[in-house]
Amino acid sequence: MIPSHPQNNQSETARAPAWQHELRQAFSRPAELLAYLGLDPATPQLAAGLMRDFPLRVPRAYAERMAKGDVHDPLLRQVWPATEEARQVPGFVSDAVGDLKRARGGGLIHKYQGRVLLIATGACAVHCRYCFRRHFPYSGQLAVRAHWQTALDEIAADTSISEVILSGGDPLSLADDKLAELVQALDGIAHVRRLRLHTRQPIVLPSRIDERLLGWLDATRLATVFVLHANHARELDDKVAQALRPLRERGISLLNQSVLLRGVNDDADTLAALSERLLECGVLPYYLHLLDRVQGAAHFEVSEPEAQALMRALSARLPGYLVPRLVRELAGEPAKTPVPW
Ligand SMILES: *Cc1c(COP(=O)(O)O)cnc(C)c1O
Ligand code: SF4
Repeated sequence: MIPSHPQNNQSETARAPAWQHELRQAFSRPAELLAYLGLDPATPQLAAGLMRDFPLRVPRAYAERMAKGDVHDPLLRQVWPATEEARQVPGFVSDAVGDLKRARGGGLIHKYQGRVLLIATGACAVHCRYCFRRHFPYSGQLAVRAHWQTALDEIAADTSISEVILSGGDPLSLADDKLAELVQALDGIAHVRRLRLHTRQPIVLPSRIDERLLGWLDATRLATVFVLHANHARELDDKVAQALRPLRERGISLLNQSVLLRGVNDDADTLAALSERLLECGVLPYYLHLLDRVQGAAHFEVSEPEAQALMRALSARLPGYLVPRLVRELAGEPAKTPVPW
């Protein structure tokens, strides 16, 4: 069943890019997703919590890659609002990485040496249940576009900043005219040399990579890096591989970050398959994150000793460039913290 499009007049429909239509059709009702997957809502594992502040959100292009009839599907697990989320687990808190304390007025999160992270928007195309951003009030003061000028002024005033990271939420949730405007402003700051986008959209909504997006990417003088986010090889289907091709043709560097997740990718075969598939798509693995201990995500946790054993198994069977760096994010640290194994 295709949900209705409220108040969408004809001319607006013609102008809006395809990916925005697709986003409007994303699954937002648990029952509807289960029906699509041929799953019985009475299955105990599929009881859904009522998560009003972080509801289900799954683009159809992503749901297509889930195995029909499998309650344990690793893609489904990433997005399913399980009742386990309501469990209070000691140590799992709402601001797990300390961003609330670090955020500055203009949407600039703290600064690692030479790099600054700009919260471009709070919105995402998909709602990942393990995400620390689920409790983050991005829609409040941080994501407001009016504050971009403050951020741009801060970047312009600090010549030590050579790289600007657009993050979110997902920065590609913004319309291309807004992104073009922001990137053009960054182009005008001489000491900024690199632009990085932390985005999951090319994975969950490959139609997002369209002519308009490529237009402003072509226009910028900045060396551009995409850090994608996929956790399982099956997230990279042929549509994704095709969508990434024009980025590769432009010499854009493609990296991937993953989160180590119980029941999704917590074994060496799955992680190795992910690295291999990423390479086939022209993407190199960058980070493998230990879970941020965010409230509602405890059922995804993999212990540190287990993670270390997985890294040893991975490095024994893959070339070094296909082994991601195992990291943990600690509040107040000047960089991601490597976890030795
Ligand atoms: C992860 C992160 C970066 C980028 O770190 P790299 O090691 O360059 O990938 C920058 N700023 C913040 C706040 C981050 O969390
Ligand atoms: S910020 Fe990334 S991980 Fe978090 S919900 Fe959005 S897309 Fe998912």
